[in-house]
Amino acid sequence: MAIHLFQTDNTEAGLAEVPRQRITVLGSTGSVGTSTLDVISRHSNLSVYALSAGSNAELLFQQCLQHKPRIAVLMGAADAEKLQQRLRDIGSTTRVECGPEALSAISSAADVDTVMAAIVGAAGLPPALAAASSGKKVLLANKEALVMAGALFMQAAERSGAVVLPIDSEHNAIFQCLPPAAQQSEQFADRAGVRLNGQGVRRVILTASGGPFLRTPVSELDAVTPAQACKHPNWSMGRKISVDSATMMNKGLEFIEACYLFDLPPSQVEVLIHPQSIVHSMVEYRDGSVLAQLGSPDMRVPIAHALAWPARMDSGASFLDLVKSPDLQFMAPDLDRFPALALGMAAAAQGGYAPCVLNAANEMAVAAFLDGHIRFTDIPRVISGTLAQITCREPLSIAMIQTVDTQARAVAGELVKAFRVTPEQ
Ligand code: NAD
Ligand code: MG
Repeated sequence: MAIHLFQTDNTEAGLAEVPRQRITVLGSTGSVGTSTLDVISRHSNLSVYALSAGSNAELLFQQCLQHKPRIAVLMGAADAEKLQQRLRDIGSTTRVECGPEALSAISSAADVDTVMAAIVGAAGLPPALAAASSGKKVLLANKEALVMAGALFMQAAERSGAVVLPIDSEHNAIFQCLPPAAQQSEQFADRAGVRLNGQGVRRVILTASGGPFLRTPVSELDAVTPAQACKHPNWSMGRKISVDSATMMNKGLEFIEACYLFDLPPSQVEVLIHPQSIVHSMVEYRDGSVLAQLGSPDMRVPIAHALAWPARMDSGASFLDLVKSPDLQFMAPDLDRFPALALGMAAAAQGGYAPCVLNAANEMAVAAFLDGHIRFTDIPRVISGTLAQITCREPLSIAMIQTVDTQARAVAGELVKAFRVTPEQ
């Protein structure tokens, strides 16, 4: 039988059909959240069960009109009440709930097949964990959840039979380049316990754009503004991850994320700067083969991949034109220019609670920088100062992770005060 590679209908093309899914989108008003809804709206067998936002009630209202979720969640009670009234007034049946417990409820509800975890930061851990513990297909964008609690998160998924599919473009690329036995496993989570070296993988190579300050003289980094730091050369993203990309802490977090997701020691994860953001990451095999995934820098590609997996479907992203694309370059990262990356790699090697401390301190430092309280170059100083003050050797538990997160935020808050710039500086 001829295989018609170019037909768009999956069944006619002889491809697996995209599974029908009812989806909860956590963080639906954010950059990844809106891209997810864009992909969902292109496919009639994908429907929205619930949406959630931190505080952007106006956009959530618009999304409720378009996607008609059964439940919408906002963090504040007063905001939620107002949104409920507005929706009722126009005859919408969407029920509005509020608070963190509601987030975990929409992530574990029996009617939900798939959860997109796209809340930014530590706030995203409890609902992502609820989805992983209740056997959902978890599309994981919220890398901070894995950084804080990677080992426990992957164990929870393995126990419940949850399928964890990475949305971070680099990890999604690595997943796509994994050996067939690992990639096509019914339960991706099961594969996490299988050492990839047993399947011929020598290492994984995470690519990094280097962010907006790849070539800025180091002496000028003290003075960069939040607006400059948020102006990523290739990707359009939320403000926190944009600053993480500028410090390269984003790659530090992704280094830790890769170790947990793919069950690899730090020695088998390498970071390469690739300013064009076209090769999204690579897997090197023991025979010398290197498999790479390429594509436009558009998050709808990994989102569509994970929603359709193991099938394929349209994402809405533009196709890559390699003839017109710039020359592809690769170089080793300069850890003196990007000390945050070195801190991330060291925390991965240390393991235990170190990644959780690193993440909490980074969130505090980035928020302080975005608020104009500390300089860009103080971000890694706050993080290393916090790491130096907090060590915890308790066995890993979610309760202790929350405690360490709180302690690290308190220490980082004090360091932020110490580094605080005065208006005349
Ligand atoms: P964003 O800031 O654009 O959106 C964050 C979403 O989370 C919003 O809907 C916001 O309302 C919600 N939110 C924020 N704080 C919350 C809280 N305390 N409680 C509940 N909801 C809250 O962020 P983003 O760029 O979409 O990133 C989301 C996650 O995906 C991050 O973990 C990021 O690292 C990861 N990620 C993003 C991209 C990207 O291209 N944007 C790529 C890879 C990974
Ligand atoms: Mg990424």
